[in-house]
Amino acid sequence: MKRIAVFTSGGDAPGMNACIRAVVRTAVYHKLEVFGIKRGYNGMIQGDIFPMTSFSVSNIVQRGGTVLKSARSMEFKTKEGRQKAYENLKRLEIDGLVAIGGDGTFTGASIFYDEYQLPTVGCPGTIDNDLYGTDYTIGFDTAVNTALDAIDKIRDTADSHDRIFFIEVMGRDSGYIAIESGIGGGAEMIMVPETLTTFNDVIETLRQGWDRSKTSSIIVVAEGDELGNATEIAEKVKKQLPHGDYRVSILGHTQRGGAPTAMDRILASRLGVGAVEGLLKGMSNVMAGVVNNQLVYTPFKETITKNKAIHPDLIRIVDILSV
Ligand code: ATP
Repeated sequence: MKRIAVFTSGGDAPGMNACIRAVVRTAVYHKLEVFGIKRGYNGMIQGDIFPMTSFSVSNIVQRGGTVLKSARSMEFKTKEGRQKAYENLKRLEIDGLVAIGGDGTFTGASIFYDEYQLPTVGCPGTIDNDLYGTDYTIGFDTAVNTALDAIDKIRDTADSHDRIFFIEVMGRDSGYIAIESGIGGGAEMIMVPETLTTFNDVIETLRQGWDRSKTSSIIVVAEGDELGNATEIAEKVKKQLPHGDYRVSILGHTQRGGAPTAMDRILASRLGVGAVEGLLKGMSNVMAGVVNNQLVYTPFKETITKNKAIHPDLIRIVDILSV
C-alpha cells in the first residue's frame, strides 16, 4: 500500500478532526502518501481530493466539526455515482481508504467494497453511539457533556420556578445520549427507544413526585422515543395533569458542536492510528473500534446490522436513583 485517502461523512461529530489528524500523521509516519477527500462521498464523486501533509492537520485536534467537511450524498447511492467515485480514486492511484462516519457511511463503504474491492477501514464518528463493534463512538462523550451542561442549567430554573421540564436530546433511534446525560444530570425519568415507557409511567412518576412534595422534575426524552417527541409528550401530560407547570427544551444541534472532550480526542486518535495500521496489516471492509479497552476490527456488515444494546445496569439504576 502506497497511497491512502481519508474522508468524513454523514453527521459531523466532535473529535472527527482529531481522527483525521491521527490518520494523516500515522500515514506519514509509515511513509504512505495521504490524500483528503472533501465533503464525504460527494467529494469522491466530484474528484475533490487533495494531498495532505503533517502540517495540513496542525492545530485541529481541539476543534469541533470536520476540516474535511461532511455531506450526505444521494449520488453515492447510485451505481453510476459509485463508479465515478472509483474512477477518481483509481486515477490518483489511491489504494486504501479511511472512512470516518456512522452506519450510513459504512453501509456505503461496504457496498463500494463489494463492487471494487478497494481496501477500506472505518472509524466510528457519530454522536449517537449506535454502532456495534465499539464501546463508544467519536463525538458521543462530548455530546453527552454538552447535554449534561444544559440539563444542569435547566435544573436551576426548574427548581426556582417549580417546573417540570421535558428535555429532548439527540441520538436518532438510540437512547445512549439520553441515558448517560440523564443519569449524570440526575433526571427523574429517562425515556429511551430501547425501553417501553408508557404514558401511565410518566403520569405515575410525576404523581409520586408530588406525593413526596417534589415540586420540580427533569424528564429526559430521546428524540427517537416511541411515545413521541418531548413537545407531544408534554402536551399529553398537561391534559391529564393540568395543574403542573410544564416546559419543553429541545437541545438540538448544540450537541453536535464544540471542542471535543479529552476522551473523544484520545479515542479518535487511537482509532485513526488503528485504521491506518489496520490497512497496512491487510484489514479491509472493517471498522476499527475499542471494546473493553482493546482495539478491535469488526466487519462493516456486522456494525451496521447488529444492535448495540444499552447496558441493563444503566437502565436499572435510573429507577433506583429516582426514588
Ligand atoms: P450519522 O449517524 O451521524 O448520521 P451516517 O454515516 O449514518 O452518520 P448517513 O447520512 O446515514 O450518515 O450516511 C452518510 C452517507 O453514506 C450518505 O449520504 C450516503 O452517501 C452514504 N450511504 C448511506 N447509505 C447508503 C447506501 N445504502 N448505499 C450507498 N451509500 C450510502
